[in-house]
Amino acid sequence: MNLSTLFKKRTIYKLMFSVFLIASCEEAKNTEEASTPAPPIIVEPEIFPELGYDGPYEVGSVYYGRENYIEYHPGDIPIILSAPHGGRLTPIEIPNRTYGTTVTDDNTYELTKVIMDTMKVHFGGTPHVILCRLKRTKLDANRDSIEAAQGNKYALRAWQEYHHYINTAKNKIETEHYSGLFFDMHGHGANPDGFYDLRTWLGYLIPGDVLDQSDISLNTKENANKTSIRSLIDTSGFDFIQVLRGKSSFGALLDSLSYKSVPSTNDPGPSGSRYFSGGYNTARHGSLSSGMISAIQIEAPKPGIRQNVSTWSQFAHSFTIAVDEYFFRHINRRIKN
Ligand SMILES: [Zn+2]
Repeated sequence: MNLSTLFKKRTIYKLMFSVFLIASCEEAKNTEEASTPAPPIIVEPEIFPELGYDGPYEVGSVYYGRENYIEYHPGDIPIILSAPHGGRLTPIEIPNRTYGTTVTDDNTYELTKVIMDTMKVHFGGTPHVILCRLKRTKLDANRDSIEAAQGNKYALRAWQEYHHYINTAKNKIETEHYSGLFFDMHGHGANPDGFYDLRTWLGYLIPGDVLDQSDISLNTKENANKTSIRSLIDTSGFDFIQVLRGKSSFGALLDSLSYKSVPSTNDPGPSGSRYFSGGYNTARHGSLSSGMISAIQIEAPKPGIRQNVSTWSQFAHSFTIAVDEYFFRHINRRIKN
């Protein structure tokens, strides 16, 4: 090994040693950083503002609640429309519900908005409209808060907003008009055996087997007091059975406009087949226990009503006429003069 070669080797060693040092320094630095605990990222729990913070609610404006999960159109006529099962939003902050029904009532969001627009034209005033925009896998706004939100705080907040907006609408109606009507809009599908009942089911909280009784046994004050239209029966000049399925009943009015309904004069009861008599919203927001707002649950089939924009627009027109007539015959005044 000559001198020049030795020099070159030393230089290479030196270089290697320097590189090693640099690498060591980098490593040491990394180790040092890793061993010093990073300041914890404090995620402040989201504090929800008090319900009603987004009020006062003005007709013509739309309110959407937290993250746009709920949609509220304030109104000025004594009608409330609610659609709890037509939403499509699936945010990741809310896990899927693990029990209870999770089926979407297809197009009830659209149907309800078209009814709102039809009523605006027909009455020259706006109904109060509350729509759940969350898919039913995330929230069921027609159940108590436990089953509805299943422990998720964001779903619970949306549930609280939904019912806050309904309560706001009810209070305004009772103050300005004394009494009114609440419709909870739903859709029913084919029965488990495949048979599709194409009639619209109207829910007054009277179970199907009770509806299948004769007029005489059904027409009691006791039964009238168990319905979601208790206060409307009180103001009506007709007796309970007439309000329920006589010629001036909501079912008979819809039937006269070519939408067969249960109960009605022609279809007094479900005759033992599947039927929904009304859920949480109908019980909570109708006049079962108190108040002057009466509620009817509307379960519309998809064929002929929820199918497409043409079928739901046509239904919206007939529905509006039926509401106008029903209100006049039992609450004894016109919705809008
Ligand atoms: Zn439903």
